[in-house]
Amino acid sequence: MDRYSRQRRFAPVGDEGQQRLASSRVAIVGCGALGTHLAQHLVRGGVGFVRLCDRDVVEWNNLQRQVLFDESDVTSCVPKAPAAAAKLRAINHTVDVEPRVVEVDATNVRGLIADVDLVLDGTDNLATRFLLNEACVAEDKPWVYAGVIGSRGMVMPIRPGTSACFACLLPGLPEPESDETCETAGVIGPAVAVIAGLEAAEAFKILTGRHDALAPGLAIVDIWENDHRIVRPPRRSDCRVCAKREFLHLESDAHGGLVSRLCGGNAIRIVPAHPGPLDLDALERAIAASGPVRRNEYLLRFSRDDLELLVFEDGRALVRGTEDLDAAQAAYRRYVGDP
Ligand SMILES: [Zn+2]
Repeated sequence: MDRYSRQRRFAPVGDEGQQRLASSRVAIVGCGALGTHLAQHLVRGGVGFVRLCDRDVVEWNNLQRQVLFDESDVTSCVPKAPAAAAKLRAINHTVDVEPRVVEVDATNVRGLIADVDLVLDGTDNLATRFLLNEACVAEDKPWVYAGVIGSRGMVMPIRPGTSACFACLLPGLPEPESDETCETAGVIGPAVAVIAGLEAAEAFKILTGRHDALAPGLAIVDIWENDHRIVRPPRRSDCRVCAKREFLHLESDAHGGLVSRLCGGNAIRIVPAHPGPLDLDALERAIAASGPVRRNEYLLRFSRDDLELLVFEDGRALVRGTEDLDAAQAAYRRYVGDP
């Protein structure tokens, strides 16, 4: 009857650790390759509350490595967070899973992490990680950084005030577009599984209070080259984030008004300058005048002039079928309004 019996039997968790997990709250930022693995580990392991934050819908090229999704999620165009939540509830109904279809940015990140005990990195870009780091230092929340690309990845637990933070590790600000991405370098599923496993293990250690067992720095693993190292970045006394508490990303107002190419290609993401709830019913009626439009609980989806537009409730959109920022913006302007 006890679904956690094997985990309880593992001495460092035990009955007390299991109770701690049950009363823990975790936010996972990004519900893609890492995020779906992480969510599965936490929900199967009995963490009491799991918030899933993600802005995207499930795409065909996600299925190779993003566990929890299947072909029906792609064809029904369900956003990743609720698609994952549905699977997770079937795995363990006793866990409170909260899907949030949201672009995590400076305006909302503190609200998304303020009521949790731990934040887990399931993102795919440095800008969001710098933002998360600042938010976690500002809110005094532990978080676990992780990134995976190709056959390699990195994991580092970060406890503000105790360990080096992400800005201690990378003191310079990243150049825009400097990220090597899963689109340019590819990524294999087993690498995701290994890195997510390490990240989830760090999460279990933090949630059960076993800080002595935490990785003493940045774990770097390459499963193709058979390499596993740990480097120990020092806590920097001049760190602009954890020492000086300068929150450049968190206090930036450059959130909305972004038009960017989607990792994965042939699609453009549009974030309006002032995101806010759209009246999807009214928009659906207006768009229906020019042709068919499909609708689910979260978005409108329609094709015009060789482009497919997905318009979310908060005004964000995904324009598929082009790499041309101007063409995507023009289509948005024509059917939705000024971005
Ligand atoms: Zn720092």
